[in-house]
Amino acid sequence: MVKSLLVRAHAKINFYLNVTGKRPDGYHDIETVFHSIGLHDDVTLRRLSKPEILIQCNHPSVPCDAQNLGYRAAQLLMIHTDSRYGVDISIKKRIPPAGGLAGGSANAAAVLRGMNELFEFGLSQPELMCLGLQLGADVPFCLLGGAAIGRGVGEILTPLPALKETHLLLTNQGIEVRTGWAFQHLHFALTNRPLDDIIVRGFLEHGDRRGLAENMYNCLEIPVFLKFPDIEALKCELASCHGSYGALMSGSGATVFSVMQDAASADQVSAGLSERFAFCTTTTTSSVGLSLA
Ligand code: ATP
Repeated sequence: MVKSLLVRAHAKINFYLNVTGKRPDGYHDIETVFHSIGLHDDVTLRRLSKPEILIQCNHPSVPCDAQNLGYRAAQLLMIHTDSRYGVDISIKKRIPPAGGLAGGSANAAAVLRGMNELFEFGLSQPELMCLGLQLGADVPFCLLGGAAIGRGVGEILTPLPALKETHLLLTNQGIEVRTGWAFQHLHFALTNRPLDDIIVRGFLEHGDRRGLAENMYNCLEIPVFLKFPDIEALKCELASCHGSYGALMSGSGATVFSVMQDAASADQVSAGLSERFAFCTTTTTSSVGLSLA
């Protein structure tokens, strides 16, 4: 048995997000188009001989205790498998927290997949996804990766063809938007643009980046932009910058991404945004990647 593993936990963006209803349990039904991106955290897992969980993270606003989604994933898996061993988790964050990029969910997915490998638990992908859903609505997609339509709370996944490597520019001004707040302040009457999944599938299959970018939509922009006009201003700036096909807020924000024509335009625009978090990345087919630490 190997003693430690390095797991790449990839972030996601949403090319489309609509809320279709409120459920009796207080959660919302959504329809979304997820896509994994190259930006990732490094999650290192080390086997411990006692059933305990240690955790550290290099980002000051991420909790280093039982509230961390990575910790909760380890705890859930250890209870589920009645594990005699424990794990030491170290998270090197690159994904901005509370940024609409599913950073916490990606870490949870990395711990589930990584521990399953490290301890040879032998759980199947559907079993891991089922456990993941107990931790967060985005965890099942973070385990699947690539591109998919998400329905229900985001856990009913229909895989889509992943977009050929596409250059993206991500920006985040350090504003943390709480996902629950954004959903609570949504005005249903103002937000209803149904998903045409055949058209989206066509854009992805044919690598039609312009078509995809021109049809992007996120209903959560309405409440978020009302409270944080700076995020809307950033979106307008990105949408009209040189080499951009279009821009959108990801998830509940605050990260805004732009679909770029090429790497050179992405680099050039990102250099002009240096005082804010600006990150050039690409779409990817990866979810969580494992390697020996
Ligand atoms: P989503 O898009 O899934 O709604 P998000 O990208 O907006 O999520 P996260 O990065 O997952 O947001 O962080 C949301 C909150 O979760 C943070 O404010 C943080 O306090 C908490 N959190 C717990 N564990 C983690 C983790 N491992 N990484 C990041 N945040 C975490």
